[in-house]
Amino acid sequence: MERLGEVGEFGLNHIPAKNAACESGPEGSNPSLSAISTERSALGAAVDEELFLRYWIETLGCPKNHVDSEKLAGLLVSQGYLEAASPEEADLVVANTCAFIEAAREESIETVLELADRKRGVARLVVTGCMAERYGDELATALPEVDLVAGFGESLTAARSAPVALRTRSVPTFDLLNLPRPKSATPWAYVKIAEGCDRRCGFCAIPTFRGDQRSRSTAEILVEARALVEGGVRELVLIAQDLASWGHDRRRAGRGEAVEVLDEGGTQPLIELTATLSREVERVRLLYLYPSGLTSGLIETILATGVPYFDLSLQHASRPMLRAMRRWGDGDRFLERIATIRRSDANATFRSSFILGYPGETEDDQRELIDFVEAAQLDWAGFFTFSPEEGTPAIAMDRQVPHELALERLREISEIQDGITARRRDALVGSRQRLLIDAPGIGRSVRECPEIDGIVMVEHSLSVGSLVDCEIVASHGTDLEAVLV
Ligand code: SF4
Repeated sequence: MERLGEVGEFGLNHIPAKNAACESGPEGSNPSLSAISTERSALGAAVDEELFLRYWIETLGCPKNHVDSEKLAGLLVSQGYLEAASPEEADLVVANTCAFIEAAREESIETVLELADRKRGVARLVVTGCMAERYGDELATALPEVDLVAGFGESLTAARSAPVALRTRSVPTFDLLNLPRPKSATPWAYVKIAEGCDRRCGFCAIPTFRGDQRSRSTAEILVEARALVEGGVRELVLIAQDLASWGHDRRRAGRGEAVEVLDEGGTQPLIELTATLSREVERVRLLYLYPSGLTSGLIETILATGVPYFDLSLQHASRPMLRAMRRWGDGDRFLERIATIRRSDANATFRSSFILGYPGETEDDQRELIDFVEAAQLDWAGFFTFSPEEGTPAIAMDRQVPHELALERLREISEIQDGITARRRDALVGSRQRLLIDAPGIGRSVRECPEIDGIVMVEHSLSVGSLVDCEIVASHGTDLEAVLV
């Protein structure tokens, strides 16, 4: 998990709560879930749908959680459920929660309570996802409204909660990774290629409840990718907690192997996977690249896919801060890599996220980060204040930064980045871009990641799923406007 979750409330680089990679935000039913109902209904045209039980899944948090929800929906459909039109009409109401930081947890709890109010008396309310995994029994006790707290891979339809407090087990026993998923309702889809993480960044609790990295095999990923492409997907967005380390745990067993192999300059399975997938689909986009994983081989491969988009998890630029975070690199190394990529492809697009107010952060560190942001001229960036998380080293560190000060730093740097983003968007006016039409009136070039970056507004008549050549005619903050050429 590389993009952090506290809401960056200010300016253009604010990531809407529902879209940030690890932010919370009730989203209603994922549109792609509707596709399952449609398929199911078509199968049983003569069957009275009144006979089916119905489910509703409310998803909070990051794209990885959305993929999990799709897989849970696929599982429920295979058990004979149909999707409900609203929580009020469902027999089974599921909250797939996010526990990344305090704000995400609060939003998850609010959503659960809201669902408890909205659901019918006889309907069952199930809480799953990261909060269920992280707090298990405590959650079941604190929320009597909930019928079942189900950790990762536990049945959503079981009669009562099994003990799920993850502190008693180090790795989830079952992953959703290889469950079937429904046809995508959009021409792009996330594909989760690994679960868990072998790193131990000072601020991040994810490895404590998602466990060490478990990569899916190339064959499993290909099966899912091909099914998505057959269903009309033209862009695959690969996600994992530490994407660049994908595959290393399959080569050598043991915690930390993924990290060691890559940081020591070992070969990188992601290179081959990216190249393979790019032969299957028009666009392959990689999210959450740990900076030491951005090897020259991977850079070359990403550029060769035709989607020169680099989502780098930098988190800071000051070396002392990065060491305190137990992370690799420093501002100079990051700038060097960015410059190398731009030399190879002037159109390369960069996104990153940064934490403000990590324990020990000084005014000098903040100055260093500002200097970096000004020098890097990233297209997109998200800024988040540090959130002390149970089970992480950072919570016990000296020199905690007051939240107000962290917010002040966030405001200062967001304003600078907003100007950079706006100028970089303005500079695209007059250029030609190939757009994938995501929805009526909405397209994206390779420069915009779905749900996270801006969009390109186009004529409503362009068919969804088509790739069209357009000229950018105007810029409106993060969004652009284009006409067909
Ligand atoms: S430990 Fe570090 S690399 Fe792993 S998920 Fe957390 S922030 Fe990402």
